[in-house]
Amino acid sequence: MTTSLISMGGNLGNVAQTIDEALQHLQRTPGIEVIKSSSLHRTKPVGADAGAEFVNAAAMLETSLTAHELLDRLLAIEAELGRVRTIHWGPRTLDLDLILFGDEIINDPPRLRVPHPACWYRRFVLDPLTEIAPQFVHPEKRTTFAELRGRLLVRPLVVSILGDHGEIEALIASMQPEVLHVNLRSLSRPQDVPTNDDGLLVRFPMNQSTSHNLAAFLPQLSKRISWLDVSNHETDQRQTLVDILRSVGL
Ligand code: ADP
Ligand code: MG
Repeated sequence: MTTSLISMGGNLGNVAQTIDEALQHLQRTPGIEVIKSSSLHRTKPVGADAGAEFVNAAAMLETSLTAHELLDRLLAIEAELGRVRTIHWGPRTLDLDLILFGDEIINDPPRLRVPHPACWYRRFVLDPLTEIAPQFVHPEKRTTFAELRGRLLVRPLVVSILGDHGEIEALIASMQPEVLHVNLRSLSRPQDVPTNDDGLLVRFPMNQSTSHNLAAFLPQLSKRISWLDVSNHETDQRQTLVDILRSVGL
């Protein structure tokens, strides 16, 4: 048997009822036992097209299924409960994500990644999760969910963006008004890399010269708890970062 954590959320229809039904579907599944579930958390939508306020919750399961089988079950329940998805990060009746599966690290993108890659910085995931499993350890970050959440509560939260100085300064000037709860800083020289692991360290796409400048430090930086790599997102990276930074607050 494996202990697993899932997150649930939606913003279309009666979400409280949909979440309740999802838990009943899970409970009725052979090989799945719902151990506990969090209260409902109301959160502001993240992303320009997200729509109305979201309702989020988390649950702890005990299961004899494999992680892939559990994912398939979650996706089937999403479909059964009539999730309508037209736009990425758009309005949805129900989103079920597999956050943790024992202490397994599963890298089978795009089908399955566990721990869920965004779980450590999304408050709408961390808040319900911390309610039911504060001392569970994130196997990659080797930190409890309570600690991961606590790190995000610092205000202002310092977000250092790695990249070419001029480019990052311009990015910060345009982005800062949209994310007032964080303090954006540009980081273009290796000697400016903070030695402590507070705040967030963001890797934004870099041009050649900056890559050269910071390249030697990337392996070391990418091991930090707060490491956020936006450079491999194919869509609008600026908007991706704004959305991520909004999900850090509430
Ligand atoms: P998101 O939850 O990131 O907003 P979607 O729910 O639309 O986006 O993503 C759906 C796809 O993500 C699924 O088809 C699934 O295969 C994949 N996926 C990868 N890892 C996970 C995970 N840990 N939990 C849920 N879905 C995952
Ligand atoms: Mg999902």
